[in-house]
Amino acid sequence: MSKTTAGYRDQLLVAVVDVVFIVGMLSLVGVALLVQHLPVPVGSPTQVQPVWILAFVAAAAIAEKVGVRVLHGDQSEDLTFFEIVIVSSFLVLPAPWCLVAPILGLAISQLAVRRSIMKSAFNLGSYAMATSWAYLVFVLVSNGTDRFSARSVLGLLLAMIVFAVINTLWLALILYLSQGVTVREAVEGFWTMAMLMSGAGIGVGAIAVAVAPISPALLPFALVPALALWHAYRSVATEMQVRERNAWLVTLAGLVTQDQSLETLSTDAADAVRQAFGAGRAIVLLDERAARYDEVLDEAPQAVPAELLPESWTSAVAVRLDLADGRRGALVLGTGEGDKSWSLGEQDAAVLTTVAASISSAVRGIEHRDALVEESSKLKAVVEHVSDGIAVLTSNGTVTLWSPAMARITGVSPSVAARTSGEVPDPLVRLRSLAAGSASQRAETAEVPIVRPDGEQRDVSVNVVTARPADGDPVAVVTVHDITSQARTDRLKSDFVATISHELRTPLTPIKGYAQLLLARYDKMTDEQREHALGLIAERADHMGRLVEDLLMASRASGTHTLASKLASAPTPHDLRDVVAEATSNFPALGARLTVDQPLAAVPVFCDEVRAVQIVSNLVSNAAKYSPEDAPISVRIHPSEFGESHARVDVIDRGQGISQDDLERVFERFYRVEDSLTMRTSGSGLGLYIARELAVAMGGALTVTSSPGRGSTFSLTLPRTEDGAKSTTSTGTDTAYARTA
Ligand code: ADP
Repeated sequence: MSKTTAGYRDQLLVAVVDVVFIVGMLSLVGVALLVQHLPVPVGSPTQVQPVWILAFVAAAAIAEKVGVRVLHGDQSEDLTFFEIVIVSSFLVLPAPWCLVAPILGLAISQLAVRRSIMKSAFNLGSYAMATSWAYLVFVLVSNGTDRFSARSVLGLLLAMIVFAVINTLWLALILYLSQGVTVREAVEGFWTMAMLMSGAGIGVGAIAVAVAPISPALLPFALVPALALWHAYRSVATEMQVRERNAWLVTLAGLVTQDQSLETLSTDAADAVRQAFGAGRAIVLLDERAARYDEVLDEAPQAVPAELLPESWTSAVAVRLDLADGRRGALVLGTGEGDKSWSLGEQDAAVLTTVAASISSAVRGIEHRDALVEESSKLKAVVEHVSDGIAVLTSNGTVTLWSPAMARITGVSPSVAARTSGEVPDPLVRLRSLAAGSASQRAETAEVPIVRPDGEQRDVSVNVVTARPADGDPVAVVTVHDITSQARTDRLKSDFVATISHELRTPLTPIKGYAQLLLARYDKMTDEQREHALGLIAERADHMGRLVEDLLMASRASGTHTLASKLASAPTPHDLRDVVAEATSNFPALGARLTVDQPLAAVPVFCDEVRAVQIVSNLVSNAAKYSPEDAPISVRIHPSEFGESHARVDVIDRGQGISQDDLERVFERFYRVEDSLTMRTSGSGLGLYIARELAVAMGGALTVTSSPGRGSTFSLTLPRTEDGAKSTTSTGTDTAYARTA
């Protein structure tokens, strides 16, 4: 409800109460005047006896005070003996005193219990109206017959029905306006009680009046049924209260076993406790706010001293809530401004202690659950994001956990891994056998190759630990680390060590041998022999120098081409034919085996000449090394590649070729196709790696095509320059070729 409608309702409520009061009082005066002119039942006294008036005022005041509060859901009504007083006053007092006396008594009782002005005005107005209309009906229906005639009794009956109807309807209207209870609900709630009380009014009131003149001694007994009725109401009311409380306690029991958040539990439990104990307000404090009540908190409810009361509270009791880790919460219930008075009964205190204990245990349960949920979501995040694969297998090999990384490494999806029938993929077979083999709680590690379902082979390091959950069968926790690239690097490294030591030792032997020869027999040798020996030493030393230089280069180049680009100085324009001529001149021994096809016109390219020559020499040297001694090798220059932007040099041999699998790998650092143990040819596995790095650094590329057994073609492309090439010859067209051997 919005504030404005609430404000509007309040105003309406005040207006209705005003109307009820005014109409009630006007009815009283109107009926009092009217009945002066109507025939009153025969036998009604016409003389006013002041003592009787006083007696009825007192009786009305007392009757209204000894009420029984009957609850109807959230509303309550006080059932009183007021109706009895009304009926007997109709029969005993003349108008207007039969109307004035009960209403006066009611007013006094309202003052005595200090009802609010609103409530008093409403009660007085409503009762005044009901009483006067009831009296009018009584007088009209009895129509001057004897006051105990059938007609008069019918008149009384109808009068009390009118009394009940008027009161019930006004009450329903006020409940609708103040609490939103529908008129129908309210009427249904109060109707039976109102009618019963009206009947009791006639039964007790009329009989008492009839019996009194005959036998005053019997008069007190006429009240016995009324007392019995009152007792019956009281016990019904008490029972209803108990039932109401039990209903709320059951609600509370449901609340504490529910799966919910702490906030919901504390608000709902506070509300249920408030209702169960009939308090005006209640709060459940689970945080540091409970500390405010520290000095009074105990297992049993304790009164909260005035200085500790929350704002606008007038009284309270507090009970301790024992939470996890020795923390203390508080359950506080009591009354505040505008609430009806309340206190905690002795028996209630014991129940409240139990209620507090069950709320505490529910809070601990929820906190425990929240902690578990947080913990397991952390674990889940770890399992999901860690780069190593994690799996959990039961003793019969069923997979209960298969992390995303595990699926990535093994190529086996979690759904396939969890399958209990059908074909089992190789990685799972391996993991199962490792898991089955390990029964110890010590971690066991093994390195195994696995074949993924897509055929790719990977090397993995598998770690298995057998975990024994507190309740349940042991499970194997398997972690898998992908060591494929590490294993490959390790292999390459050991190959490299074998290769390099061989490479360094090979030239060292002739150097040492010739040096010793020169030392021992220098004088006895001919000039030619000496020259030959020195030449050989120089050549082998050169070879070793180159090897060391290659090693240094390779160790500096990181694969990002940055260092390679530093190695190659800034490219300048050159004729590619000059580069090729220089490179091939390094191989006089190849003689006619080596042919060069080149265009007649210059092929201007941008390059670092020294490095470009190094690349081509390397390709020619490999071609010679990896093909039979008489197989031809040709170098061919293509002036245009990638449209006009680049030029290309092919080095073509008819040698052993390279298998498809090795084709790209020959450009890897230290990679040699040949088994490092047999090593028919020497080499470091660095040449092509360095050559490609340099080519890329110069804006070009180095590629290979090959068919095993028939030969290979290595192609170096370099960016072309349109001008400034230091062309030596510029005749003919670009397509004119010349062959040199
Ligand atoms: P190295 O020749 O020192 O071993 P490279 O990097 O120059 O190192 O070559 C790497 C590997 O590539 C060689 O070991 C060889 O197996 C293979 N290879 C290179 N060139 C050829 C070729 N023309 N024909 C066949 N195999 C070759």
